[in-house]
Amino acid sequence: MRVAVVTVGDELLAGETVNTNAAWLGRQLADRGVTVERTTVVPDRIADIARVVNEYHAEYDAVIVTGGLGPTHDDVTIDGVAAAFGRDVVESEAALAWLEEHGGYTREDLTDGTGEVPEGSRVLPNHEGVAPGCVVEQCYVLPGVPDEMKRMFEEVAGEFSGQKQYVRTVDAAEPESALLDRLAAVQERFPVKVGSYPGETVTVRFEGPDEAVVEEAAAWLHERVDAPETE
Ligand code: ATP
Ligand code: MG
Repeated sequence: MRVAVVTVGDELLAGETVNTNAAWLGRQLADRGVTVERTTVVPDRIADIARVVNEYHAEYDAVIVTGGLGPTHDDVTIDGVAAAFGRDVVESEAALAWLEEHGGYTREDLTDGTGEVPEGSRVLPNHEGVAPGCVVEQCYVLPGVPDEMKRMFEEVAGEFSGQKQYVRTVDAAEPESALLDRLAAVQERFPVKVGSYPGETVTVRFEGPDEAVVEEAAAWLHERVDAPETE
């Protein structure tokens, strides 16, 4: 399964809030064997949200959108997603009934706009907050508040699956440029994905669907590089 993640918020673009939701979702999806093909940050602007959701919906099996869900004026995600699918925004009876029953709110308590979703959505209750999420045409709309987002994702996590991938890493105390021949050789020898990430040492990352092959590839390289000194 191939998925795109869209995180919405001016504060993310300005670097005022670190995009921990993207990292958390990426990890959750990868653990389920789902390939995350895109993670995009868009501003709180209906047209931008609509354009990106529409494009990713056409390209990937599912789209996850987080942020900008509440009823305040800067929360426009529902409008953007509705526009992406050419749907109206409607007040969801199911969402309001859930908030009355489980949230302890009366309908008068709730700000106008709470419980609005694109027409025909499946509503996802918010166990940690107020604004409900929803699913429409394989587009999962989740809140921005990290605890709310995580809890809601867990409700639908079973709908995301794929071929589990195994990862092993090998650290090498050599310059990356010196490793090129061995990286090429290990890549040629084993059917795994090889990535190299320089830092103080170079971390070489192996990934593939067959755990034994990933381990063999890592062991092969491990024997052929200088190991970092251990403390
Ligand atoms: P609410 O219903 O409370 O308004 P919301 O779904 O509208 O929630 P936002 O208004 O976008 O969410 O953001 C709420 C809070 O969550 C903000 O403090 C914001 O910085 C934080 N937040 C939003 N998106 C992310 C993200 N991608 N990573 C980390 N924090 C985020
Ligand atoms: Mg908000």
